[in-house]
Amino acid sequence: MPKERLDKVLASQNVGSRKESGMLIRRGVVTVNGQVVRQADSKVDPEQDVITVGGQALHFQRYSYIMMNKPAGVLSAARDSRQETVVDLLPPELKRRGLFPAGRLDRDTEGLLLITDDGDFAHRMLAPKSHVYKLYEAELDLPATQEDVKAFAAGIELGDRICLPAELRLLDATRVQVQICEGKFHQVKRMFHAVGKTVIHLKRLRIGALELDPALAPGQARPLRPEERDKIF
Ligand code: URA
Repeated sequence: MPKERLDKVLASQNVGSRKESGMLIRRGVVTVNGQVVRQADSKVDPEQDVITVGGQALHFQRYSYIMMNKPAGVLSAARDSRQETVVDLLPPELKRRGLFPAGRLDRDTEGLLLITDDGDFAHRMLAPKSHVYKLYEAELDLPATQEDVKAFAAGIELGDRICLPAELRLLDATRVQVQICEGKFHQVKRMFHAVGKTVIHLKRLRIGALELDPALAPGQARPLRPEERDKIF
């Protein structure tokens, strides 16, 4: 890994802005491998060097992975000039530059959303060929039928495209669970529309084997544990 500027490394870990990190360094509260370093542009290897700030070890993380229970009414985007986004909802200790939602949920959809700054991870998670299934629970306006189950398993036609087979489970008359591994625009809603039903409420429960933490209230977020990240692929 090429070495990086110390102030940039500290800022990337939310120690403070680049300017604040530079001030801390000049004040002599930052050490690298046991030595006080006072130059903000000193080069360090954040994965190898032992860095402390005010006596506390810095546990460097190249990327952030955050689980959110997305509430309805919030946009799945990094930023927007008019509407509140999921990144706006993050508490200050989880915010850092470059975060974006890995895949979108509609504004009115709730549930499990991952927010990261790792583009490769997001790309892998979303690519249909990775076969990472996303599980949704939906409330419909009309009862779902065994015919719908068969139609979903065969592949619903959306416009000129046929969806990959999806597993539809009937929970009660109008409440269902559906698993898909693609992320076409409004996919679940459009699949139900294709069989004559309207989705009234939609919530994502699972991505791969990673389940939404039931302790997270709508709008809350927490870092993903490394072993939870491994449940996705
Ligand atoms: N499918 C939809 O229709 N909406 C979502 O938010 C997610 C999947």
